[in-house]
Amino acid sequence: MPELPEVEHVKRGIKPFAKGQKIESITYSDKVQEGKAANKETIIKGLELDTFKTFTEQYIITDIERRSKYIVFYLEKDGDQRILLSHLGMAGGFFVVDELEDIGNANYRKHWHVIFQLDNHKLLVYSDIRRFGEIRNLPSFDAYPSFLEIAPEPFDEEALPHYMACYDKSYYQNKPIKQMILDHRVIAGCGNIYACEALFRAGIHPATLPNDLNHQQREMLFYYVREVLQAGIDSGGTSISDYLHADGSKGTMQLHLNVYKQKYCKVCGNEIETAVIGGRNSHFCPHCQN
Ligand SMILES: [Zn+2]
Repeated sequence: MPELPEVEHVKRGIKPFAKGQKIESITYSDKVQEGKAANKETIIKGLELDTFKTFTEQYIITDIERRSKYIVFYLEKDGDQRILLSHLGMAGGFFVVDELEDIGNANYRKHWHVIFQLDNHKLLVYSDIRRFGEIRNLPSFDAYPSFLEIAPEPFDEEALPHYMACYDKSYYQNKPIKQMILDHRVIAGCGNIYACEALFRAGIHPATLPNDLNHQQREMLFYYVREVLQAGIDSGGTSISDYLHADGSKGTMQLHLNVYKQKYCKVCGNEIETAVIGGRNSHFCPHCQN
């Protein structure tokens, strides 16, 4: 699943080609059209497909940014502003190509779902192998309140005090620490892979209750989350399963993982254990993390 570093690289891959361009037209895949007809809201959420077109076609993409695990496209037409908000789900991705055949990975080439024809003659393509991703067209962020609940970006100054204050909320007190740091209202963009890795670096068992961590451990865990996210960005993300950059190349973070889907602990040599904690598969070293 694309986490903050992977989404950051998707954004970096498309922004130079798509920012400043007008969206001339949109093409939907059969799956998107069939899904809408069956009320399944496949990928395009919240609007009828024609309405989505009305608020997207002939709009200029004035900017593209990443916020947590979302990609945000700011649109404008004759002073009217709209926002395209996309979550890549389990295996979604954006590509900018001259034609569909130029998408390097056969799976992504086959599973395209939305094509935005840009006025520089390039195609901005949303592909999604498992179709868990989504694209919304909003008049403003107020129209999608859960987006406004997302914690500050982890590299922003307010992120640490925001995270520390979450320990005082009763909602988190009986939940495993792993589940707490996966919550984007606590830390933005930290998904399963990076949560497992940060907990390993901090020497904290993923099932630990937040109240059992002292002040120093809480802060340390935050710094390790930020460290693994930064390492993920620096190495181009983690290319496990389907993740690829917008240009089809792969990240190398998977070579630097200590516990996620690993067999043996690189520190003590013990076997890495796997357990479902807070509903997600967790990988940890029972010796180094307690
Ligand atoms: Zn170990």
